[in-house]
Amino acid sequence: MNNCPVCGHNDFEFVYELNDYRISQETFSLSKCLNCTLISTLAPPKSSDISKYYLSDDYLEHSNRKTDLFSIAYIKAREIMFGYKYRIIKKFITNGEILDIGAGSGHYLNFMSKKGFKCTGIEMSGRARAFAKDTFDIDIYPDDHFYNSTFVQKYDLISLWHVLEHLYDLEKVIKRIDDLLKPKGHLIIAVPNYNGFEQVVYKKYWSGWDVPRHLWHFSPKSMKQLLAKNNFVVTEMKMMPFDPFFNTLLSNKYRNGHPIINVFRMILVGGMAFFQGFFNVEKASSIIYIIKRKEIN
Ligand SMILES: [Zn+2]
Repeated sequence: MNNCPVCGHNDFEFVYELNDYRISQETFSLSKCLNCTLISTLAPPKSSDISKYYLSDDYLEHSNRKTDLFSIAYIKAREIMFGYKYRIIKKFITNGEILDIGAGSGHYLNFMSKKGFKCTGIEMSGRARAFAKDTFDIDIYPDDHFYNSTFVQKYDLISLWHVLEHLYDLEKVIKRIDDLLKPKGHLIIAVPNYNGFEQVVYKKYWSGWDVPRHLWHFSPKSMKQLLAKNNFVVTEMKMMPFDPFFNTLLSNKYRNGHPIINVFRMILVGGMAFFQGFFNVEKASSIIYIIKRKEIN
């Protein structure tokens, strides 16, 4: 492996060999940087081949119409989460321009535009972009637009909700965010946290690894280091309240547990993980990092 993309060191330790339990069933390995603690997915597919490891747009469209309990719970939880995200955001900004990277079908941006924000998104999937435009009249651009030097708009808030761990070039992304963020702007990055309780329980079956789609696996230490070297600082950290339960549900499925026992596990392990994150956000299943530029004196 090359040098660590966060700290540049090259002392690594092997973590797990694990499968892409969700889609391809192929085997991958995880390697941890002994300096900054970033865990990397070793030898991931090339970016030009990664789309086959994602569910097709057809599948996503189908699953949006699903009426099973899991999908209903997911959609309900998503709506509650929009309110939760908004309550976090409105503490430091109540209007202005938002850029959401990895905007999907634009449901979150639609929610935020109703709250008075001017919203723009970046999204790889053409079908998701078209859906957002047709359904919500929100402009969502393809990812090459994000890197295009003619894209010079400045934003008050840039968000990446469970997106950064999917992006190949961390440094390039953070530098581009630096270009597009207003001097007093805020950045929000939400990612899974491998220091959480479920990872300790499920180990290689923990759904937060999600290889090879997740290329990087952050701890608070490695996230803060990545940001610090780009002159950003974390001002606050928040948990994602539903992630312990969804992660436990998925991790149980990957481990092929008995369905009845899995329900108890979801309540027990999910509950334990929830409370651990509630009392100590550094151990939350996923962490929302609220970030601003370092003050230069
Ligand atoms: Zn490192």
